[in-house]
Amino acid sequence: MQVARLRAKFDPRVLSRYDIKALIRTGSFSKFVRMEQKTTKKPFAIKVMETRMREGREACESEFSILWWVSYHYIVQLLEIFETQDQVYMVMELATGGEFFDGLISQGYFTEQDAVRILHMVGDGMRYLNALKITHRDLKPENLLCYHPGAESKFFITDFGCNSGNKSGDCTVRMLCGTPEIASEILLRKPYTSAVDMWAFGLITYVLLCRFLPFDGESHMRIYRTILKGKYNYRGDPWPTISLKEGLNRLLILEAKHQVSAGQALDHPWVLMTTGSSMKNIRVISQNFMRRASPQPQSPRSAQSSK
Ligand code: ADP
Ligand code: MG
Repeated sequence: MQVARLRAKFDPRVLSRYDIKALIRTGSFSKFVRMEQKTTKKPFAIKVMETRMREGREACESEFSILWWVSYHYIVQLLEIFETQDQVYMVMELATGGEFFDGLISQGYFTEQDAVRILHMVGDGMRYLNALKITHRDLKPENLLCYHPGAESKFFITDFGCNSGNKSGDCTVRMLCGTPEIASEILLRKPYTSAVDMWAFGLITYVLLCRFLPFDGESHMRIYRTILKGKYNYRGDPWPTISLKEGLNRLLILEAKHQVSAGQALDHPWVLMTTGSSMKNIRVISQNFMRRASPQPQSPRSAQSSK
C-alpha cells in the first residue's frame, strides 16, 4: 500500500531503473526509500529531496555540492542523481544497520576498545573531510550510519544538508533540525572552522561511553548556557574505568584555537587511546538520547557521584 503510494509520486526515469522496496524514513526536507536496482538486484537508498521550498533547495544544493566530489570508505557514497522541477533523487549506498545507536544496540554490550574502533572510523572520515576543507556542521549520532548489523560493521558519515549558509555561524538550519548541542562558536555566531566538528566528535565520544549527554538541561536555552560555560563532568559509572577522559577534554574544549584536528586525534595516543583503553563492558546505550521528547535518562549530575 505504502509502496504503491510512493510509486505514484516517483519520477518514471527512476522507476525504470529501480524498484521501490520500502520507506525508510521521512526527514526534514526529504524522504528515504529502500530501492533495488533492476539490473543487478542490489539494494540502495534513495533520498528524495523536495526543492520547492528554499530550505529544501539549500539543503539539497549543500548535500550535492559535497557528495558529488567525495569518495571515501567512511563517507556515504552518492552513486546517481535524477532531477525534476520540484524534486531531486539521490541514489546512495544503503546502510542496513540503522543509525549509530541502532548499530550499537544490535552489538549488545561493548568495551571501551570497541568504542575506540568506532571512533577511529568516524575520525578517519573527518580527517578526510578536513583535508578537503569541508566542515560538516551537523555531526551527531543520527548522521552516523551502521553499514550492516553486527559487531564488525563499518560506520559512515552522512547528511551534508546543513553545510550551506554563511561561515559566520548561521545555526538556523541546525535549530530547524532540532539539534540543541551546538559548538559555542556557532552559538555565538562567531566565524568558525572545522573545530566545530571536532567538538561534536567529543560530544559523540562522551555519549558513546556513558550514554548521557555532557551538556544537559530542561530547555535548549539551558543546554546552550552549559555549553558556553564548558560545564560537564565525569561523575558516575563508567567514568572511573575510562581512559579516554584526557582525550575528551581536548575535544570538548571551548577555545577553537586549542582544538585538535581529526588527524591529531587519530595520531596521538592521548586522544583516541587504543593501548590503555579498558576491556570492561560499557552498558548498552539508551536510545532515549535521541528522543528528547520522551522521558529523559537520569542526568549525570544527579547520578551517584564516584569521584
Ligand atoms: P535529514 O536531513 O532529514 O536529517 P539524513 O540524510 O540525515 O536527512 O537522513 C535521515 C535519516 O534517514 C538518517 O538519520 C537515517 O536514519 C536514514 N538514512 C539516511 N541515509 C541513509 C542510507 N544511506 N541508508 C539507510 N538509511 C539512511
Ligand atoms: Mg540527518
